[in-house]
Amino acid sequence: MSSPVATAPLQEALPREPIREGITDEIKDRYSRQILFPGIGAEGQQRLARAHVAIVGVGATGAAAASLLARAGVGHLTLIDRDYVESSNLQRQILFDEADALAALPKAEAARRKIALFNSSVQVDAHIADLVPANIHELLGPAHLVLDATDNFETRYLVNDLCVETGKPWIYAAAIGGYAATMNVLPKGSAYEPTACLACLFPKPPSGPVETCDTAGILSTAVNYAASIQVTEALKLLTGQPEKMRRTLLSHDLWTNEFSQISTAKPGPGCAVCGRREFAHLAGVGRPHITLCGRNSVQIHEHHRPVDFARMRERLARHTDLEDLRSNDLLLRFRRGPHTVTLFPDGRALVQGTTDIALARTLYARFIGS
Ligand SMILES: [Zn+2]
Repeated sequence: MSSPVATAPLQEALPREPIREGITDEIKDRYSRQILFPGIGAEGQQRLARAHVAIVGVGATGAAAASLLARAGVGHLTLIDRDYVESSNLQRQILFDEADALAALPKAEAARRKIALFNSSVQVDAHIADLVPANIHELLGPAHLVLDATDNFETRYLVNDLCVETGKPWIYAAAIGGYAATMNVLPKGSAYEPTACLACLFPKPPSGPVETCDTAGILSTAVNYAASIQVTEALKLLTGQPEKMRRTLLSHDLWTNEFSQISTAKPGPGCAVCGRREFAHLAGVGRPHITLCGRNSVQIHEHHRPVDFARMRERLARHTDLEDLRSNDLLLRFRRGPHTVTLFPDGRALVQGTTDIALARTLYARFIGS
């Protein structure tokens, strides 16, 4: 394995020196087919065990990526997701099952439980949270690599800001309809020869309505294909072979067979983020309320304070117009007419059945409190 130019942050994080201690028989057996693959080998396997990857979003792409990384023996995963499992997820989100949907289990926690069943040696930190400027340093800081598996550009630009700021590699992945796209971002100041960042290619997030899974649908194969490429690139990085990583934005429509690649080999001249180091998204400039992909729902996160579910439930039980009021340790939920409100312990709520932010806010203020 070659040693690329190493600088401070990742030199410590992903050690370059040869691993001297032997590999146990248990690991040799469990990962035998992967160790046989010359690109990984015994040393690569040991490097994977020491690696820490954060996955932002545990929907279809994130569930596939988490499953692939955990099965490959990546030792530590941080999973961040703000959403819960529903039956319409099961078509493509391969870590979840009908019991998870029935229990409306938060995706990060459902993924953690599922991974423990097939690879109990992987440390999984599950965060039921929205990734925002206030928590991004804490949640992504310790990871060697960040995988984007979000459904929105707001979060992607936030991840790009953080990773460029701290010199942390990240891998973009997206899928919509039958189309998949992915791109490696090795920022300036990381241990690697830098690539373009997201803002080099697309200086601004798309404005106006963008197609989502809600409007265009999604093929399970497209999203799992994006995750497969993303995780393969991750394995190259984590085993110390960044020179093998693709330096293009790859787009492939699996249905129409259109395939294209745009070079990302060099950072763009004059990029505001990786050139001028202006981190507007990290600073929280213009952060809107977020409408979720494929969900006809609005997220409200105005009150960052813990909620006492038992007291809240008691209070809500007095409202005769609320149905299906239930709660567990992870969420509280009720239905009112066509709207379902799901409240998380940190005060964040998802109002489902509308994209009207004002209406969602009214429901929140009335039933949860302002
Ligand atoms: Zn850039």
